[in-house]
Amino acid sequence: MVNLENEIYYKYSKYLKDKYGEKVYKLPINLDITCPNRDGCVGNNGCIFCSEVGTGFESLSNNITVKNQLQQNMDFIKKKYKAKKFIAYFQNFTNTYMPIEDFIYVINEAIVDDIVEIAISTRPDCINDNYLEQLNKISEAHNVNITIELGLQSVNYHTLEKINRGHSLAEFIDSVIRIKKYDFDICTHMILNLPWDNSIDVIEGAKILSALEINQIKLHSLYIAKNTYLAKLYDNKKISITSKEDYINRVISFLEYTDENVAIQRLVSRAPKEETIFCNWNTSWWKIKDEIENKMITNNNFQGRMCTFKNGTALKKRFN
Ligand code: SF4
Repeated sequence: MVNLENEIYYKYSKYLKDKYGEKVYKLPINLDITCPNRDGCVGNNGCIFCSEVGTGFESLSNNITVKNQLQQNMDFIKKKYKAKKFIAYFQNFTNTYMPIEDFIYVINEAIVDDIVEIAISTRPDCINDNYLEQLNKISEAHNVNITIELGLQSVNYHTLEKINRGHSLAEFIDSVIRIKKYDFDICTHMILNLPWDNSIDVIEGAKILSALEINQIKLHSLYIAKNTYLAKLYDNKKISITSKEDYINRVISFLEYTDENVAIQRLVSRAPKEETIFCNWNTSWWKIKDEIENKMITNNNFQGRMCTFKNGTALKKRFN
């Protein structure tokens, strides 16, 4: 929750400290898997912004076993930061898109000392009751928390079609309702400056995620990875990217309409320069983050300020 004396939004680092009592580090895991939107199950070409390496630019090779990936990263971070608690983060592609036995196997591989949580990145159409039930058994048996990270990117289902997500808003809502039956956290990824979305879509996104009581949100600025369909559209001037100032305003609106209890993992994308043809208006991500925070402080903006739409606003207005 936002502490208005020193926080303008609920940072993920604070959320982890509130939950675990100390700093917790995420260790990325890269599996040799694909995605139903790439292998022909749902589609062949993937989301129009997705590069061939998926989104895990920082991960180790997927030839290394899960245990070894975790151990290598853990040893390094333990030494560097004296860290004690970690999250095993299945980051790249769709980490529930595999037979159930394989899924149980890889998740069990991540049960090692000092792992307090397993975060699994996936698509809303790759969640079902059986996988969740198995995950819950592992969680209870080993006393490890679970976070499911769902890619959504936009709540505008026309935009979802344009970016070739291969699912609509309905699949997202369905998966959230199913996950909510368990004591798992849900994180949702949103891109706030997709060329087909306007600021009303952005605000509606914040309201829908707040209404669904999503626990964490990761915000992305759209970057254009090389050799993607999005890159073709950009090169052929079929799309234009909104200005940095507009992106900053969208993030601030989004935060203001987001419930104060939602932890914000990220405000701006990070992608290596050599992999992209456009990224963050040639500005460092942290400079844009600073600009957002400074503007919020100057204008007295804070997370949740506009999140007043829940629980019968008309009744409150008329009869309170
Ligand atoms: S769902 Fe994820 S991994 Fe699959 S194509 Fe889209 S961005 Fe890439």
